[in-house]
Amino acid sequence: TVILGIETSCDDTGCAVIDGTGRLLGESLYSQTALHTRYGGVNPIFAHELHHNNIDRAVTEALDKAGKTIKDVDAIAVTTKPGLILSLQVGAKYARYLSRIHSKPLIPVHHMEAHALVSRMYHKLELPFLVLLISGGHCLLALVKDIDDFLLLGKSLDNAPGEVLDKVARRMKLRNIPEYSQLCGGKALELAAQKSTNPSQFEFPLPLSKFRDCNFSFSGLKDSSVRKLIQKETEHNVMGDGLIPEVFDLCAAFQLAVAEHIAHRTHRAMMFCDKNMLINPENKAIVVSGGVACNNFIFQSIEHVGSKMGYRAYRPPPSVCTDNGVMIAWNGLEKLKKQCDIRTDFSLKEVVPEAPLGKNIISEVV
Ligand code: ATP
Ligand code: FE
Repeated sequence: TVILGIETSCDDTGCAVIDGTGRLLGESLYSQTALHTRYGGVNPIFAHELHHNNIDRAVTEALDKAGKTIKDVDAIAVTTKPGLILSLQVGAKYARYLSRIHSKPLIPVHHMEAHALVSRMYHKLELPFLVLLISGGHCLLALVKDIDDFLLLGKSLDNAPGEVLDKVARRMKLRNIPEYSQLCGGKALELAAQKSTNPSQFEFPLPLSKFRDCNFSFSGLKDSSVRKLIQKETEHNVMGDGLIPEVFDLCAAFQLAVAEHIAHRTHRAMMFCDKNMLINPENKAIVVSGGVACNNFIFQSIEHVGSKMGYRAYRPPPSVCTDNGVMIAWNGLEKLKKQCDIRTDFSLKEVVPEAPLGKNIISEVV
């Protein structure tokens, strides 16, 4: 079996070819991060144009690296939801075109389900397991009951953590530090935080601490951090490069606050799963995925709550935490094995910009 995966939901054109055992045969990634970082966020028009320019060579490159041609492919998996509509359309249209002219089955993939499930390609993970998805557009806690059956336990009421890390990095002008100029905000902030010597001079309140659910909120952290920042800026003179003197400490303190909040809500989800016996007590696992899962500090804080609650923590390799074609191909393979949502009738027409993960949302979970 050979599966081709195509991802274009946001600002990365990613393709991958895997075999029936889940071995990666070839992949390609045309990332637009550096460009969008320069403009302060993803521009949907630019993103669409770049996907359009890159999609053909991204697919060809992945197939070439795999030593395969489109004729060898048994099914084409493509992200159809959620994401930027113009971006999604490029991948979906291209996949539809390939499927039509080469008579290949098409498998629509939910981007967040793909983030959640791809860990199974790297680790032996039995269902059900708990998943924490932390990325540029989402913050979700869910129980993965089956590859197409998710129970949503909590989500962000406002911003996503990646979005907030990117915004704070921008406000702190981390891009003016030459080593960080090409990095996404989240990565720059993680590296800057490592240079901190006195993070405890800044403190942030724990969001939603009184709420007995698994939801998240990052807007307060973002705004209180900004308030402190402005305060500092008026007290001290900013340096020539636009950086404030305590920039590293503020990054570390902010990262700690984000990590503590995520760990706190994850702890609640673990308590909920344990209390309601939703997870096999012999086999308790939490998967962390999405771009922010690359952050070692945040992942370690999840490992820490996990170890207290008897959950082993897993994450895919960094390049598979952020957007990529591998996770789409993997999701295609799992769906093909289960014969779930395989389209052979050219019925795949629409892409969907907003699509919830899971059937249920429980507000008062513990
Ligand atoms: P979504 O998956 O919700 O649609 P997205 O696809 O834009 O959003 P991803 O590609 O999964 O998001 O992740 C991108 C985000 O990950 C960015 O906000 C980026 O700052 C963040 N990120 C990447 N590396 C790190 C890191 N080391 N620490 C923190 N955040 C990081
Ligand atoms: Fe993503």
